[in-house]
Amino acid sequence: MIVSPGFIDPHTHADTFLTSADPAMRVNAAWLNQGATTVMLGVDGGGTPDVAEHSAKLVASGIGTNIVPLIGFGAARERVLGEDARAPNADELERMKGLVKKGMCEGASGFSAGLFYAPQSFAKTDEVIAVAREAAVRGGLYDTHQRDESSYTIGLLGSVREAIRIGREAGMPVHFAHLKALGVDVQGQAAAVVKEIDEARAQGLDVTADQYPWLASGSSLDASLLPRWSVDGGNAALLKRLDDAPTAARIRTEMVENLRRRGGPDALLLIAQNYPWTGKTLTQMAQQWGTDPIEAALRIIRQSAAKDGGGTSVASFNMAQADVDLLMKQPWIVTSSDGSSGHPRMFASFPEKYVKYVRDRKVIDLKTFIRQSTGRTADIYKLEQRGYLRPGYFADVAVIDPAQYAPRADYVHPRELSVGVRSLFVNGTLAVENSKATGATAGRALLRTQPAGCS
Ligand SMILES: [Zn+2]
Repeated sequence: MIVSPGFIDPHTHADTFLTSADPAMRVNAAWLNQGATTVMLGVDGGGTPDVAEHSAKLVASGIGTNIVPLIGFGAARERVLGEDARAPNADELERMKGLVKKGMCEGASGFSAGLFYAPQSFAKTDEVIAVAREAAVRGGLYDTHQRDESSYTIGLLGSVREAIRIGREAGMPVHFAHLKALGVDVQGQAAAVVKEIDEARAQGLDVTADQYPWLASGSSLDASLLPRWSVDGGNAALLKRLDDAPTAARIRTEMVENLRRRGGPDALLLIAQNYPWTGKTLTQMAQQWGTDPIEAALRIIRQSAAKDGGGTSVASFNMAQADVDLLMKQPWIVTSSDGSSGHPRMFASFPEKYVKYVRDRKVIDLKTFIRQSTGRTADIYKLEQRGYLRPGYFADVAVIDPAQYAPRADYVHPRELSVGVRSLFVNGTLAVENSKATGATAGRALLRTQPAGCS
């Protein structure tokens, strides 16, 4: 057996489980069955400033994994500015800073941002730095879904430099969420990314990253293809623009370019569940409707916008194997899932990495895999008494059968539980036995001890 600290997943979208009205969902078996005992809240800038209230509510309801909250730039910005594409005035900036301070003082591990996503994308670097400082002075890190992982706006390398500048000027460690080189224009740039990060580290800035072991990213069709200006003001504004012929023509032109960057309509697999297009590529839907891929995408965007507020999920096959391998070997990388609905990474990232990258392809060894999934992650987020098997530490412990440990989920069947965890303890309580969740809800909120600067 492999006996390891419970895995810590630094980039997760587990809210649908953790906030479910169904106690069986709140067990969070998708993660437990991989050997993960801790997940994140509020990544990509989404974390509520009401850290204490939200965490307490989740823990009181009974959850199967530990949670680590982050305070989100996007949540703070939306509370003050809504979805507007403008800079805050002095008073609004102060209110945003106040919300970040509140989140940090209530125990958040750091400050998350998702500058790729509207409306966060409307923020200039200086605005982010000013707000991030509130987390920096209280010991938080800058955890970023960076502005551009591809060639959409400032480019991958420009975006890496922006994040490093934010960390440097705000005075805080930088952590790249789901680091990758996304799309045909930047494939092969992983080495240049590594160079940027190594240089910043050599100059004394603490820079780290997490990575999921899949060649497809998950996003929404809207975020993948629509120009940002077209969603300024939200869905209602988008639909209005699409009804205006000249504006719609401009949107289409930019969508053609975005689709090329993503590798074309064959590379976009539609994975939102329970739609007529579930499990089909954009090419297949265009053929089925007898139209072109852009028209098909717009039809899907309109229909899902009208139905549930938009953002239909896609798996976007846009990463090069050599880039993924190179990043995985870096001494500052850790394992994550970025687990979100419809992509197998939510149910299978840790065993996928073990089977594909440790056992079969031998890109990294077992020891490195464990380190990338436990202690190094605990160090990055300063999780106290977690991530190691040491006397006095919390008993988050995974006992894994190396011969059985494997993913069961794939892109077409993304919600299959992984197998091979013999026993999993969360805070000393048996949470999985022979690949089956026991139903125990021993998860706690791992809140930072109140930092200085909170009075
Ligand atoms: Zn993200």
